[in-house]
Amino acid sequence: MDKETLYIGSHVSMSAPDYYLGSIKEALSYGANTLMFYTGAPQNTFRLPLERLKINEGRALLKEHGIDESKIVVHAPYIINIANQLNENVYDLAKKALAIELVRTAAFGVKIMVLHPGSHVGTGVENGIDSIVKALDGVLDKDTTDVKIALETMAGKGGEMGSTFEQLAEIISKVKHPERIGVCLDTCHISDYGYDIKDIDTILKQFDQTIGLNKLLCLHINDSKNEPGSHKDRHENLGYGTIGFEALNKFVHHPLLKDLPKLLETPYVGEKPPYKEEIEMLKKSQFVNWR
Ligand code: FE
Ligand code: FE
Ligand code: ZN
Repeated sequence: MDKETLYIGSHVSMSAPDYYLGSIKEALSYGANTLMFYTGAPQNTFRLPLERLKINEGRALLKEHGIDESKIVVHAPYIINIANQLNENVYDLAKKALAIELVRTAAFGVKIMVLHPGSHVGTGVENGIDSIVKALDGVLDKDTTDVKIALETMAGKGGEMGSTFEQLAEIISKVKHPERIGVCLDTCHISDYGYDIKDIDTILKQFDQTIGLNKLLCLHINDSKNEPGSHKDRHENLGYGTIGFEALNKFVHHPLLKDLPKLLETPYVGEKPPYKEEIEMLKKSQFVNWR
């Protein structure tokens, strides 16, 4: 049997002094062949100028290691909320931030940007969908990059949008530029929402029938601290949560998901990132009690 190419990596930091070069080095230190990063702080939209981020140095290192840039993912700041129009000002700022983030993502040569669909904050699901669609249309009408937006499946806490495949499908069916929109499936989130995560074939079938598997752009591989249906969203290290290593490993090695980047967003243990151990476990398909 051919050795499968597994596109596996994790969330990595991007910080002074090496910025993107440092992000790539961090990913390599985990044995990863892809990565996900924020182009600035995840919780705000303050962004350092691109010239300072050692992008060329980072990209040169990627090339040296034969890493396929099309598998790398940027995560948009999670403060961006395009799912309600309660405050016109805030909605406008969110759209602006989204437009800027697409340009920044493209500057790294990255083709996929994960975006939380946002919260309708009590205005209702229909209003949420309408707001998201209008914002995506407004931004993509003017955008000249070729970055795809991957709407993330969410756990459904509060007025969080995008927790069902049906909602995501509705958004994609309504936008003007559906070719620019896809989905990022987060295993912790769909389990916390209530999907039966251990039955992967049923999940992928449901996904295919509602959204279409061709729309799946990347996966977040996380265990969960909470029971299925808890609507909580607390990530856990692989094999230490309610999903378990076996089910997560099945996602990672599923033939239908072969070409997609899989990114870990599991929690640090104290100061220690878990990614080297977790990536190694997934490569070997074997759980090791390392914690
Ligand atoms: Fe996310
Ligand atoms: Fe996620
Ligand atoms: Zn999460």
